[in-house]
Amino acid sequence: MDHILTVQNLTKKFGYLTAVKDLSFTIEKGNVYGILGPNGSGKSTTLGIVLNVVNKTNGEFSWFDGTTSTHEALKKVGAIIERPNFYPYMTALQNLKLVCKIKDVSEDKIEEKLELVGLLDRKNSKFRTYSLGMKQRLAIASALLNDPEILILDEPTNGLDPQGIHQIREIIKTIAAKGTTILLASHLLDEVEKVCTHVVILRKGVKLYSGRVDSLKTSFGFFELKSSNIAAL
Ligand code: ADP
Ligand code: MG
Repeated sequence: MDHILTVQNLTKKFGYLTAVKDLSFTIEKGNVYGILGPNGSGKSTTLGIVLNVVNKTNGEFSWFDGTTSTHEALKKVGAIIERPNFYPYMTALQNLKLVCKIKDVSEDKIEEKLELVGLLDRKNSKFRTYSLGMKQRLAIASALLNDPEILILDEPTNGLDPQGIHQIREIIKTIAAKGTTILLASHLLDEVEKVCTHVVILRKGVKLYSGRVDSLKTSFGFFELKSSNIAAL
């Protein structure tokens, strides 16, 4: 089971707008994937489709080589695709206990995951007292409670200050080093270069490149690759 996710000729239309067009890529176990592209390039739509929250128009995707239904497969997927949303007047610990009840997973891992995201010493603070970076880190801890095969993050550093951005990136690298596959949507080339081993680059829903990040600059030679150029794609 080395294929975590296979996407084949995926297309999504919103009325006359084609948000994702004929997109194919494969996510293999143990790597860190970026979906890179400017705002509106179809990153979130792609994640929404494979997470069953957006209906596809055409094409296919399959989890874990199609060995289980999408519904079953998604139990082994951790995803953060929205702003972290927990009960503001409950502590971090109380919130994670509630998540365990809702997802029907053991509470045994709560402290380990809080430690991983650097929040163990703040576990008894109310969620409303957390900074945005801490909220995002709590969301990561929450998504890891059932030890998923893959962690999916949509623009996890958006809106954070430089220290918060650094912390999140380091946590993602730590999670990856423990063997969890990562799929990260970002509009930042430097984020993908710092965190990811592989990348799928989208422009207006169309794939421009997929492959290893370290061969990106040679393979993608039609212009000098800089963050400003990603924004202009
Ligand atoms: P990204 O995450 O790369 O910024 P999105 O996947 O959110 O891009 O959006 C891709 C395109 O699809 C954009 O043009 C966006 O406006 C459009 N879009 C996304 N969601 C909807 C929706 N629910 N209804 C209509 N258009 C949408
Ligand atoms: Mg998006």
